[in-house]
Amino acid sequence: MDTQKDMHCAEKLSIKLLKAVLLCACILGVLLSLVQVFLDAHLSNADIDRKAREMLAMIHDPASRAAYRHDSDMGQEVLNGLLEMKSVQVASIRMNDSSMLAVVKRPFFASRYRLLSDYIFDPIRIYRQPLYSNEPGKIQFGELILSIDTAHKGKAFIQRSVVVVFTGIIRAIAMALLMYMIYSTLLTRPLNRLIHHLSSIDPEEPGLQQLPVPEGNENNELGLWVRTANKLLTSINYHQSLRQKAEAHIMRLSQYDYLTRLPNRRTIQNKINTFIHKAKKKHENIAILCLGLDDFKSLNAQVNFNVAEHILVKVSDRLRNCIGNKAYIGRLGEDQFAIIQSKIEQPYEAAELAQSLIKQLDRPFEINSEQLTISATVGITLFPDDGEDVDTLLQQAEFAMIMAKSRSHNRYQFYVATIDTEIRQRKRLEMDLHRALENRELSLVFQPQFNYQKRQMVGAEALLRWNHPEKGLISPDMFIPMAEHSLDIIPIGDWVLENACQQLHQWHLDGFQNLRMSVNLSAIQLQDDKIAERIAFLLNKYQVPPDALELEVTETSIIKDLEASKIQLQNIKSIGVGLALDDFGTGYSSLGYLKQFPFDKIKIDKSFVEDLPYNRENCGIVEAIVQIGKSFDLKVLAEGVETVEQETYLAKKGCQEGQGYFYGKTLSAHDFISLISSQGVLSGNTQDRQGDNNV
Ligand code: C2E
Ligand code: CA
Ligand code: CA
Repeated sequence: MDTQKDMHCAEKLSIKLLKAVLLCACILGVLLSLVQVFLDAHLSNADIDRKAREMLAMIHDPASRAAYRHDSDMGQEVLNGLLEMKSVQVASIRMNDSSMLAVVKRPFFASRYRLLSDYIFDPIRIYRQPLYSNEPGKIQFGELILSIDTAHKGKAFIQRSVVVVFTGIIRAIAMALLMYMIYSTLLTRPLNRLIHHLSSIDPEEPGLQQLPVPEGNENNELGLWVRTANKLLTSINYHQSLRQKAEAHIMRLSQYDYLTRLPNRRTIQNKINTFIHKAKKKHENIAILCLGLDDFKSLNAQVNFNVAEHILVKVSDRLRNCIGNKAYIGRLGEDQFAIIQSKIEQPYEAAELAQSLIKQLDRPFEINSEQLTISATVGITLFPDDGEDVDTLLQQAEFAMIMAKSRSHNRYQFYVATIDTEIRQRKRLEMDLHRALENRELSLVFQPQFNYQKRQMVGAEALLRWNHPEKGLISPDMFIPMAEHSLDIIPIGDWVLENACQQLHQWHLDGFQNLRMSVNLSAIQLQDDKIAERIAFLLNKYQVPPDALELEVTETSIIKDLEASKIQLQNIKSIGVGLALDDFGTGYSSLGYLKQFPFDKIKIDKSFVEDLPYNRENCGIVEAIVQIGKSFDLKVLAEGVETVEQETYLAKKGCQEGQGYFYGKTLSAHDFISLISSQGVLSGNTQDRQGDNNV
């Protein structure tokens, strides 16, 4: 029962007040009326007696005379006079010898109040008066008897009483209502308003709202009550805020490390738990890194306690800054920190974070104007591969860190050895790739492209090769994403472009002017604002006609930022080079962007060319792509053509060009020229190439 609405009507103070006042007033009204009635009864009673005696006194003398004379007529006459009075029922003169000298009588007064009035006044009252002679001896010779019927008096009395009681009650009710109204105006209504205000107060912050003092009650008990309540509310608020601050402080103390202000072990465990729950639902991977400072114990022994704490604070600051919002960091205890990296796709992302954390500590720390070098070792576990619960994962990360420390310092190690080796190899390969260009390990090979209408080779796609000094040839599918990740693709891609242009220039010089060169352009290169400028420069440098160069971009590389890619491609297109959409069908294949982008050609991905014409599904896809090409006025080239059946089918369906092992595997520049020479595609002119582009 929290509000007035919830209150049962009978429970309301106003109703109780009304009931009490009414009841008291009624009782009091009835009591007072009864007293009045009682007094009236008493007076009426006395009045009956008084009147009877007056009557007796009035007729005493004539009645005495009649009795003295034994004059019955006279007696009768005297008594008749009494009958004038309504209340006289019987009057008689009785002689000493008990004989009646005279009697008058009238019937009883028929009254409906009789029952009650008889009870109060008795039905009949008899009065006697002795009759004496006037002589000095005063001899009694008879008696005057008067019988009074009280019903007349009783009737009047009862009627009066009813009026008295009735008006008494009415008066009392009126008074009660008046009192109730006064009470409710002065008390209940202001109280209700106060309750209304009280219930609108926010229990979280009771001091924000004060109760208003009801008007006109500033200096009475109500005003005092409100002021006291307001003081109480303010005080509750104050203490509540103190308590909240204290709670928050305790919470901080229990969740965060007092020194570095990083989350403590318990909080980290909770956090890992939360991450695990989320990751399970979304099938994501998490890396847990345990970073321990190398030789911190011996450092601790060398410097005093304060310095050691100072170092820990500085280390944690650097780690926190390095991590930013990429991961979640906390202090496990002493010189150990835990870092949670959620939503990772590849273990090497964790390796990279570990590497960058280790690197952060490379710079020496300046403590008390002394330079201190501190290194760290990181152990890494992966969810769900290495474990599915917090304790296992943390334990394994710590174990991996200890294992790593036992081998050497300042490094990271994965809990699972195979991942560790894999990542290490990958990292080494990345470093090797970084130097591949200057070590001249990169080269270009060329794959012919065949035109079905002309039945001849019309160009080549330049494909990059990396000949690793130890590992031999490494697939571009492996190293291109690596180069994109490390951004080495920028110098490498530029090298490819320049060499392809140079090679094409050479072929043109050698008499193959109708040859066209396709070069793959990575998403990263496409983000470079100066790419169009660079292409124009290279075309000019190697005297390559713009339409002899074709750039291949994939759907995935333009989809990341459609607007920016559109502008870049339009800039490239404005130079006059051709644009091909590579691996068509494997990405988003949204027709929307085909319309907006200045492509000249789409390349059907080799996965759709497989098993043609036997694979019905692929037949349908190829037909659809050719149709799209027609509608958007784009040439269509099929990749991965390996058999004559595939060629026949593709040509029949309307593909203009094909590329694949059927026409030639990837060849060196020299072998490529030998191949096309052997097929009789010796030389041509620019006109041919343009015509070819327009097919
Ligand atoms: P891509 O652009 O789709 O290149 C075609 C790939 O299919 C080449 O693999 C080629 O050797 C292979 N291929 C050609 N014909 C056939 C065939 O008939 N059957 C089969 N099964 N495969 C065929 P490669 O040379 O290993 O290149 C792989 C990917 O590496 C390329 O796919 C391209 O995305 C990328 N790449 C290669 N060179 C460069 C480059 O210079 N720059 C950039 N950004 N990416 C490159
Ligand atoms: Ca390509
Ligand atoms: Ca392709």
